[in-house]
Amino acid sequence: MEAVRFDELELDERILRAVTDMGFEAASPIQAQAIPVQIEGRDVVGQAQTGTGKTAAFGIPLLQKIDPKNKKLQAIALCPTRELAIQVADEIRRLAKYMHGIKVLPIYGGQDIVRQIRGLKDGTQIVIGTPGRVMDHMRRKTIRCDHIHTVIMDEADEMLNMGFLEDMETILSQLPEERQTVMFSATMPVEIQNIAGRFQKNPVTVKVVKKELTVPKVTQYYYEVKPKTKVEVMCRLLDMYAPKLSIAFCNTKKQVDELVQDLQGRGYFAEGLHGDLKQMQRDRVMGSFRSGATEILVATDVAARGIDVDNVEAVFNYDIPQDDEYYVHRIGRTGRAGKDGIAFSLVVGKEVYKLRDIQRYCKTKIIPQAIPSLDDITAIKAEKIMEQVMDLINDTDLTKMVNIIEKKVLEEEECTSLDVAAALLKLAMGEENEDIIDCSRPARSLDDLDRYSRDGRRGRGGRDRRGGRDGRYGRDGRYDRDEREDMARLFVNIGKNQNVRPGDILGAVAGESGISGKMVGSIDMYENYTFVEVPREYADAVLRAMKDVKIKGKNIHMEKANGKGR
Ligand code: AMP
Repeated sequence: MEAVRFDELELDERILRAVTDMGFEAASPIQAQAIPVQIEGRDVVGQAQTGTGKTAAFGIPLLQKIDPKNKKLQAIALCPTRELAIQVADEIRRLAKYMHGIKVLPIYGGQDIVRQIRGLKDGTQIVIGTPGRVMDHMRRKTIRCDHIHTVIMDEADEMLNMGFLEDMETILSQLPEERQTVMFSATMPVEIQNIAGRFQKNPVTVKVVKKELTVPKVTQYYYEVKPKTKVEVMCRLLDMYAPKLSIAFCNTKKQVDELVQDLQGRGYFAEGLHGDLKQMQRDRVMGSFRSGATEILVATDVAARGIDVDNVEAVFNYDIPQDDEYYVHRIGRTGRAGKDGIAFSLVVGKEVYKLRDIQRYCKTKIIPQAIPSLDDITAIKAEKIMEQVMDLINDTDLTKMVNIIEKKVLEEEECTSLDVAAALLKLAMGEENEDIIDCSRPARSLDDLDRYSRDGRRGRGGRDRRGGRDGRYGRDGRYDRDEREDMARLFVNIGKNQNVRPGDILGAVAGESGISGKMVGSIDMYENYTFVEVPREYADAVLRAMKDVKIKGKNIHMEKANGKGR
């Protein structure tokens, strides 16, 4: 696994500067493969999922082709959801930071169309949009295709899942013949292969070829965390497990610097290692880590390559790695020389799906854990101090101290020697804070995630592409009913008789509310109404977003199912 530097990829100097600002140390494996072929002008099918760096893999070559002086629309990227469209637009804008005169506009359902039209008229060269809304603009002629030279389909399989197949085909068939067509998809179902066959010219397929890997025998835990509590959770794990030496991996140089600062600010002996360090600094950091003066080495994957330290007790995946192989390399830094090792992964939001894929690919077990509470930490700290206290009692002469305490207890009537001991313990343990993290629930099991997600083994196979289907799809009904307590069931007054398909409902719910299609559960469609499951925590937001929405041109009404249809 050789790291490819961005400056080896013949990129525009302004993009290189932006990439440096974003803290990327090296191209991710999919970027290393996909960027050069796109720069050559070839059509590309990229097999990669979220978290692999796929957005920059198509965003960088796209930016190199945009002519900032031409204020006509030059490229469209299609995305399955509003959330992704915004995310992709943001990433491309960050990459275009030093390229003046480039305008990127996300376009999705649920947003005021007049505002979008104004944006489109204002010299937008790149549109990132959901298929339904892009079609809408094409019909209104507010999107004109004559200058479009590049089209990208991001998460093509997800667009298929959401019922956008026909829309994708319509859009592609209206674009100029002379164009570059790039498609990214995590999986390649037959419909997606057909699209590639019909609308691409001799495409190059790029994917990260997976090697057979030996996964080290290391205990692997993971925690679901919020971005704001990541540092706190890592510190709790450090306090709880007290590893003498540990390595924390981050995906960017910027994140390495930030984490080092946060850890040092909290009194931990941490140092960072990344590609910006000169050899001398690197040697100093490694020397300090080997000697134990630095307890936590915070590093990027590239910088940590070749580090050979035997007694690393814990590895932290502070960021989830961009490649399955990196995961294996990372956790292999611990558990060496026959010693026990432990690996902790902190996942935020949808990264849990990336971790599930890692678990599947590595054929390993990553165990969900509840975040340790402050009470847990207090108990452990107390236990450690008490161990030291017992050693002192056994090994040293404490007569002087006993005399001091005896004198104090005699003077103060209200105070016993037990009170004094308790107060000293409190002093030794330091400040206690209020618990700001909900520690009551363990992370979800990665195996169970398949039941929640729309991709992978389940789901696709069960779909009826002809549009006619009965009741549930994608998942076996018994399971849905009995085990999905964290899902809320919503009722919508539209069904088969109104010519809608489950994909239309899925597309509308995800597109309007911004939740990922993967989070939508089963969709039970009947003659005149449908039940759709969404995570309970998002139910109200979905209902709000679905107010005044039309599906297939029809006004709909959505409400909580309140046990209807169960
Ligand atoms: P994506 O797979 O496009 O959703 O990207 C996942 C995350 O990785 C985003 O936050 C990107 O900014 C980040 N990223 C993309 N390329 C790199 C890279 N070469 N090194 C580090 N982070 C990256």
